[in-house]
Amino acid sequence: MTSSTVPLGGRRAGPTSQCAHHVPGEPNRAARETSPYRCRMIGDIATILLPRVRAHVILEPELTLIDCGLAGSARNIRRALAALGRSMDELARVICTHGHPDHAGGARALARAGVPIHMHDADARGLRTCWADLIRRPSRGRFFAAMTPDLPEVVPLEDGQVLPVLGGLEVIHTPGHTPGSVCLYGARDRVLFVGDMLQAPSGNVTFANDVCSDDIVTARRQVRRLASLDVKSIVFSHYPPLKDGARSVLEGLAAKV
Ligand SMILES: [Zn+2]
Ligand SMILES: [Zn+2]
Repeated sequence: MTSSTVPLGGRRAGPTSQCAHHVPGEPNRAARETSPYRCRMIGDIATILLPRVRAHVILEPELTLIDCGLAGSARNIRRALAALGRSMDELARVICTHGHPDHAGGARALARAGVPIHMHDADARGLRTCWADLIRRPSRGRFFAAMTPDLPEVVPLEDGQVLPVLGGLEVIHTPGHTPGSVCLYGARDRVLFVGDMLQAPSGNVTFANDVCSDDIVTARRQVRRLASLDVKSIVFSHYPPLKDGARSVLEGLAAKV
């Protein structure tokens, strides 16, 4: 499993670019030299540092974006793809790990541009929540849902579904952080995208943030299922990835549930 990081909004990517050879989906030399971005290639997964969240783009002949940032992120995504030598026209799908505004806020603009948006139905339905609903029946979930623009059309994600990405990317429904939170498991690369299901402040992998989660008890229980997978690397939405040793980390967390 390889990945790269494209910083936006003035943030720095850390170590010097490790891009060495040109393959489809890898930033071309001209783009790297002229763009304001630096990249760290670790393979065919690139990280786009959007304000407040990390989106990930799978650099295959057709592009797949996992999460798409706050509303207004489309311009930053377009610039990041250009820095990677790719374009918005190659974007085949957006997969939202859940419906929170930092993950799905940018989806409406991409949907209007014709990109299919994939999301679990439990969160897609929640996006119809308006501020009046929130005032009538206040809850944490309705607050975040009201902050996220509704979508005209969503391709529903279902547990066990396998998407044609990374040789087969399995949808694992892991409710709790939100009712429709999903993790995405790529068996070929032993990589797990966890959205906000897990976090890793200071590099220490731990459960979802209880302040931002609808049902933290249910969210924690999901870790048992993740621990049964053969995972080498975990890709987080708000922290750098854990590249190795993920399975034992998940097993350790599951033992605390
Ligand atoms: Zn979230
Ligand atoms: Zn988040």
